[in-house]
Amino acid sequence: MKLHEYQAKDVLDAHGVVTQPGEVARTVEEAVAIAQKLHDEQGVDLFVVKAQIHAGGRGKGGGVKLAKGVDGVREKASQILGMNLVTHQTGPQGQLVRAVLVTQAVDIAKEYYVGVTLDRTRSQDVIMASTEGGVEIETVAEETPEKIVKVWVDPITGLQPNQARRIAFALGFEGAALKQTTKFVGALYNAYQKSDASLAEINPLVLTEQGDVIAIDAKITLDDNALFRHKDLAELRDVHEEDPLEVEASEHHLNYIKLDGNVGCMVNGAGLAMGTMDIIKLAGGEPANFLDVGGGANAQTVEAGFRIILKDPNVEAILINIFGGIVRCDRVANGVIEAAKNVDINVPLIVRLQGTNAEEGQQILKESGLKIETAILLKEAADKVTQALGVA
Ligand code: GDP
Ligand code: MN
Repeated sequence: MKLHEYQAKDVLDAHGVVTQPGEVARTVEEAVAIAQKLHDEQGVDLFVVKAQIHAGGRGKGGGVKLAKGVDGVREKASQILGMNLVTHQTGPQGQLVRAVLVTQAVDIAKEYYVGVTLDRTRSQDVIMASTEGGVEIETVAEETPEKIVKVWVDPITGLQPNQARRIAFALGFEGAALKQTTKFVGALYNAYQKSDASLAEINPLVLTEQGDVIAIDAKITLDDNALFRHKDLAELRDVHEEDPLEVEASEHHLNYIKLDGNVGCMVNGAGLAMGTMDIIKLAGGEPANFLDVGGGANAQTVEAGFRIILKDPNVEAILINIFGGIVRCDRVANGVIEAAKNVDINVPLIVRLQGTNAEEGQQILKESGLKIETAILLKEAADKVTQALGVA
């Protein structure tokens, strides 16, 4: 689950990571009130108004604006709130801006990058830092990988003070800024770990003209599997930023990811789902989704899956691929028939059942009188997808 910048900064603040003072606003009046308060209490005269969407690259898209005085905030907030912000991460359709962060502007002397994520190949967290802040880290990694320093954290010993210091050194900090950065890295790692994040990224981290080290931007992605132990963080979910079909799928505990193709699929098991997507491609189609209904495929989950797949207007055929291991194929076949009665399936449906009671399952589907193509071998399923699409 992704957090908005303002939410990520709250999490970071709570762990002692230095960010600028600011608050989120959903209306122009709220934005003005926040600016007024920052002005009255802290003498702030220069502000930044920042669109709060889950995508990065907001600055280039016109979603981050400097504002002079409270009146400047009024002007910029009215431009940004309600705008359809297009960045390289939103795709061409863009994202509606529902909230802005109003924050104190800082005088930037230099921009850096620092991020923490899990390195799955080493089974350790990795802290990455670079003097090339503000730029996409992927670009730095590709073009000038030597400009990224990496430190891996042993899960047994945790982050060592000398590791945090090594990062601060590598970024070229000296004196008080070196101390601040060392502390910053420690606090950032702590925030990442304590909130069960899979990513905590500061781009840019800046050195101000006054010599302070401070996070200007913040991205946090939380591990969904750990959200049960962070009720407060789970409440920060913003479904507006998610694909509506994915939101519906999560309500049914279905593992669904929307894709751009024309063949919907419903599979039990993530590995088989990946294999099925390959089969769809071989058959001349493109997968419209990833959908793993898990081990307990029953009439309810199959029906929910159908409904979600059929709401995708790009779907021209559906391939169900179930391996009957714990779940028996005859039960799945009955589930498909039950679901097909309740949902109007208006595209060709191909069902491939394999494993326990596969033949019984196929028989049940054939005798159902429903327009279902059945298959036992993967090759048969693929050929039937090809026929359904008429791409042969
Ligand atoms: P992103 O474009 O979505 O990554 O949004 P950022 O929060 O990183 O802001 C984009 C850029 O706006 C930064 O790289 C800075 O150059 C600039 N910016 C953001 N906040 C400030 C600020 O307080 N002062 C100054 N001078 N520039 C800022
Ligand atoms: Mn940024």
